[in-house]
Amino acid sequence: MCQNFRMQTKLLGSSAGGGFPQWNCSCTNCRALRKGELNGKSRTQSQVALSSDLKSWFLLNASPDLRAQIESTPELQPSSSGQSIRHTPIAAVILTNADLDHVLGLLLMRESQPIHVYATKSVRRILTEDNSMFKMLDQKQGQVKWTDVVSETPFELCGVDGVKSTLICTPFSLPSKYPIYVGSERASELSREEAVLALVIEDTKTKKKMAYLPGIAALDESWLKRIGSCDLVFCDGTFWTDEELKKLSGAPRTSREMGHIPMSGELGSIELLSKIDRRVTKVFTHINNTNPALNENGPEYACIRDAGLILGHDGMVFDL
Ligand SMILES: [Zn+2]
Repeated sequence: MCQNFRMQTKLLGSSAGGGFPQWNCSCTNCRALRKGELNGKSRTQSQVALSSDLKSWFLLNASPDLRAQIESTPELQPSSSGQSIRHTPIAAVILTNADLDHVLGLLLMRESQPIHVYATKSVRRILTEDNSMFKMLDQKQGQVKWTDVVSETPFELCGVDGVKSTLICTPFSLPSKYPIYVGSERASELSREEAVLALVIEDTKTKKKMAYLPGIAALDESWLKRIGSCDLVFCDGTFWTDEELKKLSGAPRTSREMGHIPMSGELGSIELLSKIDRRVTKVFTHINNTNPALNENGPEYACIRDAGLILGHDGMVFDL
């Protein structure tokens, strides 16, 4: 029935938390964009959707901008042929961590709609035990189905109704921390391996693979090899330099300390990704509004393009 379809991936949101422009930011980029003086695009907070049959869609994280992203994507909207007026083609959500810009969209998916959420046990506990607002997802019995995922243990993606897709997801634990709102006492009770995941998703029909790494502090040999075996990778494009936010807003931590490999410099993502087979489509996402690469007239944007890499923007579609 669906043999002719390929895995389709939609980049619905390509910005880091805050979006571009960010409500309280007057950095060079945000200012120029607002004035209409930037050759660049506004961006919503990071969101990816993928499907292997163009009917059921899986969301990678749940952006605070999810409502607008759904409204700009007809495939994610309820069809007029549905049995009841309330339904959704969104089969499930896979969370990579508990960051607000990755989970707030779950609260937009209430309205008594049954949903399936995959997360590590620790991320599930942070949301359901520590944050009472998430009880809105569980007003009716069976409204939300949580499935705990374990690093390096592949699982088949399926909807809340149990209908399986042909997609297999393998999560990989990344060395990182829980968000600040979790607090150090609570974080100390939770497994550090369950704080942040990267995902590799394979369509078993076509053997095509994509990797999703919206927050990764370093691309080590094992990751470079793994990415080299994929057809498409969405890589952390948060900051251009390691000191970017420190210099601009006096942030206490460097990009790497915040869990984000910078694009430029030695062992930066541009240098490392450009060494990988050119047949792998490499797309930067989770781009912070301060990143100078957002200026498409600038040398940073040219550097990305000349390395054979893509600066992701909202609305991009990739067929595998
Ligand atoms: Zn800004």
